[in-house]
Amino acid sequence: MYALEWTVDYGHPLQFGAFITPAASDAQTPVALSQLAEAAGLDLVTFQDHPYQPAFLDTWTLMSYVAAQTESVRIAPNVLNLPLRPPAVVARSAASLDLLSGGRFDLGIGSGGFWDAIEAMGGRRLTPGQAVTALEEAIDLMRELWDTTERRGVFTDGRFHAVHGAKRGPRPAHEIPVWIGAYKPRMLALTGRKGDGWLPSLPYLQPGDLARGNAAIDEAATSVDRDPREIRRLLNVGGPDGDTRAWIEQLARYAVEDGISTFIAMGDDPRVIQVFGQEVAPAVREIVARERASRGVDAGPVRSAIALSQRVPGIAYDDVPEGLFAIEPGDFAFADVRSTYLRGGSPGIVLQPDSPQQVAEALAFARRHPDVPLSVRSGGHGISGRSTNDGGIVIDLRRLDDIEVLDEERRLVRLGPGARWMQVAAALGEHGWALSSGDYGGVGVGGLATAGGIGWLAREHGLTIDHVRGVEIVLADGSIVRADADHHPDLFWAARGAGANIGIVTSFDVEVDEVGDVGWAQLAFDASDTAAFLTGWGALVEAAPRDLTAFLILSGPRAGQPPIALMLAVVDSPDPDTIIERLQPFAELAPLVQQSVQVTSYARIMANADIGPQNGSGEPHARSALIDHITPEVAEAAAQLIASGASYFFQIRSVGGAVADVAEDATAYAHRSANFSVVAFGRSAERIDEAWSALAAHARGMYLSFESSLRPERIEEAFPPATLSRLRAIKAEVDPDGVFRDNFPVAPAA
Ligand SMILES: Cc1cc2nc3c(=O)[nH]c(=O)nc-3n(C[C@H](O)[C@H](O)[C@H](O)COP(=O)(O)OP(=O)(O)OC[C@H]3O[C@@H](n4cnc5c(N)ncnc54)[C@H](O)[C@@H]3O)c2cc1C
Repeated sequence: MYALEWTVDYGHPLQFGAFITPAASDAQTPVALSQLAEAAGLDLVTFQDHPYQPAFLDTWTLMSYVAAQTESVRIAPNVLNLPLRPPAVVARSAASLDLLSGGRFDLGIGSGGFWDAIEAMGGRRLTPGQAVTALEEAIDLMRELWDTTERRGVFTDGRFHAVHGAKRGPRPAHEIPVWIGAYKPRMLALTGRKGDGWLPSLPYLQPGDLARGNAAIDEAATSVDRDPREIRRLLNVGGPDGDTRAWIEQLARYAVEDGISTFIAMGDDPRVIQVFGQEVAPAVREIVARERASRGVDAGPVRSAIALSQRVPGIAYDDVPEGLFAIEPGDFAFADVRSTYLRGGSPGIVLQPDSPQQVAEALAFARRHPDVPLSVRSGGHGISGRSTNDGGIVIDLRRLDDIEVLDEERRLVRLGPGARWMQVAAALGEHGWALSSGDYGGVGVGGLATAGGIGWLAREHGLTIDHVRGVEIVLADGSIVRADADHHPDLFWAARGAGANIGIVTSFDVEVDEVGDVGWAQLAFDASDTAAFLTGWGALVEAAPRDLTAFLILSGPRAGQPPIALMLAVVDSPDPDTIIERLQPFAELAPLVQQSVQVTSYARIMANADIGPQNGSGEPHARSALIDHITPEVAEAAAQLIASGASYFFQIRSVGGAVADVAEDATAYAHRSANFSVVAFGRSAERIDEAWSALAAHARGMYLSFESSLRPERIEEAFPPATLSRLRAIKAEVDPDGVFRDNFPVAPAA
């Protein structure tokens, strides 16, 4: 065994790539070589960029084409010729390709060379010093444009690159690393200050240049408080001079002695690409792994000094259980997970377990931080918004999103809490089944199925929780239990209506219904006489057969418009005559200003949401109540509330029917006899409370899922006395310390 002198290790996992000529003469060859590289197990394919070279394909076009023809290999220019490409345009191209390829784009960039050719293409000849400044301005500008966490446009008045109010975005799929092709001191210093990687080519280096370059980069990095390990060291290398073994030893030497962690083999020989991926890469990896193990070097992502500075004091970040995925404020992905649909948040850490065991580990981590807020999140659509927090821990269950049929005959299905209801509807639709959940496909299974679930088929099939036959729960002490009619019946009772009070539900077994095509109606009325309209509407809903479930939305006054009431209704029948028969009485209630009725599927009705990142801001203010009948008094109070303008969104949903078939004490959701659920959203807590009070006098109860108030009395309104005392006894048993305290917590019984 040859001796390796270990001098430097920046701790990055090793990568191997190919440097493929973008030859235009046989345009499909670079594409085929890229596919070969992917098949050979290489991590990366890269292409030189010489826009003045007619023998070459345009690099952006080629990279886009290759991305579409490959599945997993990363793609990068090696290196992009900046003087001929305006950085604001490069930023958009890079982000677009990154999004289209599923986060597979990395950016190698250079300050230019071949100045005659650049000038010939209309570029400007720059001195070496100017070229470095231009590159630095370009990097800053691109990163600004990729940063969509800021709303305002980008303004820079650089010497070489200026934009005035450029719009940000698109946001790339991952934090695109910027690798700089650098040789001279000023470029090396820039790499240390701003680069994510150093990408020289071996043929242009003299002996000792790698060590000198590393030292220059490290010094520049340290001078701006960066950790030198933040900068990956890449190297374009020639093919094997002699035998493969010698090549392996040579590369291992560069890895171990010069800290190189990405090797990119130049040349278009398919045989070399294959050998590089299948023989050289595994062998070099093995040697380096052995060396690292013997020196106790931890290879893994390096958190930048800036990211570390954003950590929240009081959270033991280094104690996050191994293997548990965590996102911190300094991470690129943080912007996508910090907030919920309705509320802006700034947690200190978001943990994303992918198994019940990991949920237990996440909970144990949270328990070691008793003074830090804890939120539990499934789909992030909680109306209280308390599945995020400021400075605390979030256990985010989005990875637990399986939908699995357990028993075809019984229509028994297991749902992960992180699945969204539109995904559930689509999966069940394939079997001709449906489960009534809510009206919005983006809502998560976990929050809704622990609280109630007032959905489009409620009058016919009941609440979502009425279909739950068993749950798996992680309790505050970390134990994972199954609760159903025969096991932990108390927990099973509580899991259907008590929200997050009892534990974290990691799966729901639900028995779903056979549902074919349904009628879907959207009727907009002139509700100028709002109170009379509401009374009439309520009476018609109550009189309608159970196959009709209807929701009504009323908005505050708008200048020059009569008050509009929008009725959305499902009639569970594929028969147009039946659908029209059910709707006709409503159509006669008030002048119709718009109407649409169609036969469609439940899954298509639920496919109404974007389930991408959530960008809620501020605090939501919502008030909920349950109402037996829309009496003239209720209607008058509701009309006044709407007319006051205090609520920008007021909704009445029909419940009753099958919901009321279930006994009040059968689940922790107890408001079975109510025929309607009402919710009002306001912009200010004070105004909505004031406007709500008249209506509240005629209502009772509260549905956890539609309320945001922090007033403790609301708990007593959510749970009638007998329900609350049973719940408090259970809480005392399973969560006496109040680990689950963030969203409508009940006090444990004394
Ligand atoms: C646009 C919109 C439409 C809606 N429509 C309806 C509707 O038609 N019918 C209806 O009934 N509701 C509806 N809701 C309310 C919805 O049911 C609740 O907001 C529900 O809590 C959202 O679930 P989630 O998992 O997306 O929420 P999250 O914000 O992830 O969670 C909300 C709360 O639920 C608890 N929780 C979440 N996951 C779990 C878990 N796995 N175990 C234990 N507790 C957990 C936590 O307390 C958390 O704070 C709607 C909400 C929105 C925003």
